[in-house]
Amino acid sequence: MNWPPDYHMHTPLCRHATGSPSEYARRAGEVGLGEIGFSDHSPMQRDDFDDWRMRLDQLDEYVEWVRRAQRDHPELRIRLGLELDYIPGHEGWLRDLAGRYPWDYLIGSVHYVAEGWAVDNPAMIGEWSRREPSEIWAAYFDRLIQAAEFGGFDCLGHADLPKKFGHEPHEDCAPLHRRLLEIARRRGLAIEINTAGLRKECREIYPGPAFLALAFDAGVPIMFGSDAHAPADVGAGFDQAVAAARAAGYRHFLRFEGRRPEAVRLEA
Ligand SMILES: [Zn+2]
Ligand SMILES: [Zn+2]
Repeated sequence: MNWPPDYHMHTPLCRHATGSPSEYARRAGEVGLGEIGFSDHSPMQRDDFDDWRMRLDQLDEYVEWVRRAQRDHPELRIRLGLELDYIPGHEGWLRDLAGRYPWDYLIGSVHYVAEGWAVDNPAMIGEWSRREPSEIWAAYFDRLIQAAEFGGFDCLGHADLPKKFGHEPHEDCAPLHRRLLEIARRRGLAIEINTAGLRKECREIYPGPAFLALAFDAGVPIMFGSDAHAPADVGAGFDQAVAAARAAGYRHFLRFEGRRPEAVRLEA
């Protein structure tokens, strides 16, 4: 099997992941991947913004860690990426980060749906009981649509993240999905098939099958990521991810080098 690359992997610099990039790379070889990419949580302009990402002064170290993994594992293609947090008003900062290194790809993700609240943060799950789920989903998609309109990424990460703890929207989100996907297509953004959801309470890939089918219909390309926060997660659930992509209609996935996409045939 010629597996798609796993383009979503973290490092201990984000303070909630374990294992060195070289250990992730070793694991990738064990599970039969030929290409991987690191996309750790980007630094914010202010290090006191939150406590689950690298500090700004660690960005060089992050890049050096990935370079070391490339030297340690010449048998693998190892890409240098970053997961950027889209927050309205931070666009200038995101452009600044995008220009700092020769990234192979940038994942744009929405975690923050309100001031100080990242919707996937287990320490803040109590925030869900203070609002209607539909309000939270609407806020999430509002930001994701703004992220797509900003367009300074190659791919949108885990595009239905608020389902992580099992909170369903209780409303038909298809109109929001369609609106998002139309903008993504126009801006040349892919969406990520992210298998981390399989390991969370929702027990489902991000995005779910109906959303993914709409993405195929809209002509939005895909890339794959495990969102590994430990070496054991590398390539996790990729058999299900490939099956989900094919069920939605996809026959190709994207690889990236120097922020240039290349469509590659998806094997059954
Ligand atoms: Zn993380
Ligand atoms: Zn993320």
